[in-house]
Amino acid sequence: MAAKIIDGKRISEKIKAQLRQEIKKLNKKPGLAIIQVGNNPVSEIYVNNKRKACEEVGIFSELHRVPENVSEAQLVNLIQRINSDNKIHGCIVQMPLPNHLDGQKIVDALCPLKDVDGLTTYNQGRLLGGKNTAHIPATPRGVMKLIESTGIKLNGKHAVVLGRSNLVGKPTALLLQQENCTVTVCHSKTRNIPAICRTADILVSAIGRPRFVKANMIKRSAVVIDVGINRIGNKIIGDVDFENVKKVAGWITPVPGGVGPMTVACLLENVVKAAKI
Ligand code: NAP
Repeated sequence: MAAKIIDGKRISEKIKAQLRQEIKKLNKKPGLAIIQVGNNPVSEIYVNNKRKACEEVGIFSELHRVPENVSEAQLVNLIQRINSDNKIHGCIVQMPLPNHLDGQKIVDALCPLKDVDGLTTYNQGRLLGGKNTAHIPATPRGVMKLIESTGIKLNGKHAVVLGRSNLVGKPTALLLQQENCTVTVCHSKTRNIPAICRTADILVSAIGRPRFVKANMIKRSAVVIDVGINRIGNKIIGDVDFENVKKVAGWITPVPGGVGPMTVACLLENVVKAAKI
C-alpha cells in the first residue's frame, strides 16, 4: 500500500487561519523585522515568502536590506535599534551570511524574546534544558507538527535524524527526544547510514542531498519527513526519493508542499507568541 501523504500546505493554512483570528483579538499588531545582507537570489525568495505570509495573517513586517560588505559592528548596531523598537516583536537575520560575518555573534546581539528563529545561544540553551518558554526554531517545530498530524504515538519509537546543523538537525533531535523517542543522529562521517535508517520508525532527513534516501533504506510503514530543499535546474526536490520511498513508507512529506510551508507558519506563530509576551 502506498504511503499516506502528509500535506504540509494544508496544515500550514490551518495554522495561519488560527493565527489570523488570534491576531484580531490582540490589542496590538505583531511586528517582524527581517535583516537581509546582500542580494542572494534564494534569500530574496525566502524573504518575500515570509513577508507575504505575514501580510496574510495580519503581522506588520519591515525589511532591512544591508549591503554585502556591511561590518559586524554595523549589523550589531542595527539589531540593537530593533531590540528597542516597541512596534517590533520578532527579528530574523536571513541566512546565509557572507563569510566575513560571524553569524552566531550577530544573532546573539538579538534580545532572546525577539529571536523568533530560536538561534541565539540563550534560546538554544533553553531548548537543550527542555524549557518550553524559549523560541524553538521554526523548521524543527514544523517537523514535529507534521509527525503529530499522523496520530502516531512517539513514546519509545526509534527516530533517525539525518543532519546535525544547529538550524535543523540538532533541535529536531532534541524535540524528538523530549517526546520520548530514542534518537540516532547521522552526519557526513556516520558509517552505514542505510542500515541505521532501516531501523527508523521515524526518519527525518535534513542534509541537502537530492534523493539520498532510497526505498531500500526505509522500514515498512515508517514516517518519513523530508526537510531537504535541493535546486536542480528550475525544479526543487527533497533529500528523499519520493516516488519509490512512498511505496514502502507509511507516511511521507512531499517537496515542495511538506516542511517548507510549515516553517513559515511556525515562524509566524513565534512572532505572535513574542507579541503576546
Ligand atoms: P547544513 O547546515 O548544511 O547541514 C547539513 C547536515 O547534513 C550536516 O550535519 C552534514 O554533516 C549532513 N550531511 C551532509 N551530507 C551528508 C551525507 N552525505 N550523509 C550524511 N549526512 C550528511 O544544512 P541545514 O541548514 O541543516 O539544511 C539541510 C537541508 O534542509 C538543506 O537542503 C536546506 O535547504 C533544507 N532546509 C529546509 C528548510 C525548510 O523549511 N524546508 C529549512 C531549513 C533548511 P556534517 O555535520 O558532518 O557536515
